[in-house]
Amino acid sequence: MKKIRHGLRAIGRGFAVSFRWLGTWIVKGLRSLRSVRVLLSIAALAAAFGIGILISQIWWSDSADDASSTSQASSPQTGSSTTSDPAATDGDPSPDTSANLPADPGATSGESDSNEEPAAANPPDDADPAPAVPGPDPTPVVVVLDQKPPTYEEALAVAAALAPHTIYPSECNSPLNNPDLMPNAPRAYRSGIHQGVDFQCFTLGRSAVAALDGRVVLAVGNYQDPDSDDRDELLDIAETLRATPPFTLLNLYGNYVVIDHGVFQFLGHVVTVYAHLHEVDPDIRVGERIQAGQRVGEIGNRGTHAAANGDFYVDPHLHWEIHIDNLYLGAGLSAGQTREVYTTLFSEAPR
Ligand SMILES: [Zn+2]
Repeated sequence: MKKIRHGLRAIGRGFAVSFRWLGTWIVKGLRSLRSVRVLLSIAALAAAFGIGILISQIWWSDSADDASSTSQASSPQTGSSTTSDPAATDGDPSPDTSANLPADPGATSGESDSNEEPAAANPPDDADPAPAVPGPDPTPVVVVLDQKPPTYEEALAVAAALAPHTIYPSECNSPLNNPDLMPNAPRAYRSGIHQGVDFQCFTLGRSAVAALDGRVVLAVGNYQDPDSDDRDELLDIAETLRATPPFTLLNLYGNYVVIDHGVFQFLGHVVTVYAHLHEVDPDIRVGERIQAGQRVGEIGNRGTHAAANGDFYVDPHLHWEIHIDNLYLGAGLSAGQTREVYTTLFSEAPR
């Protein structure tokens, strides 16, 4: 024990001496900084060091490219594929689906209209690097359902088949004749497109109700509107990406509820979203069954620009979405076609 204690003391003394030495050395060094010649030589050393780092970086990136068969090298590539992935996931929500889909299976006829301009700029960027990759098999990090949007005729058929089960999700104004309130309308403020139907209420106190029978799978009732500046920052990022990242979109929903209506035979998996709610009804619980017409919550404006400024009375409206197999109904259609599809969807709904 004694020996150990002696040893530790000796080490401690050693540290103390070396720290003292270091201190005096630094002080001396600082004094000598006054000399211009010393300053110049330090600057020259720093420059040489910087150039050295630069050269080693270039060398490193070259060698990383060469060694693309190793797993280390494939991760930058998956990185580059993830830059297209957010676009693709956002694609269900926003124009980038159309960006990716035509790039993969070839142009689809139905989706030529509204949302191509922001999308059209992307595919060449995405398409070019793909063939250039010599043949590493990239590890997929994000699963994206590569789905071709239905044609107009197919979407109409889906809407007609769902019509007997579907009611209006709110008593507020029907927006079917206003393309700006319908799916595929551009949403410049977030560099995306609208994928829902906006039922404008003009006042608080109106109810959102389930449009079809189903089961609640998501209910966000304690949403905190972001500070206005923070919201703007999210939108700036969307502008840079020229797409709305999926989690930005969720942030813009405010309080919201998602209902899973199950799989309709020959149609697909049907899900509806009720967003910008002022409040989610306390009876709404994840996992519970819900009937068409049952109240989901009070319609509001949470998640909007006005709400971020603390004003919850401006433009209350229900943002309502219906998704079939992970794509909103009407994806890729023109404004006129979208109106027809949703008019068909609500054609049997009682008013
Ligand atoms: Zn909306």
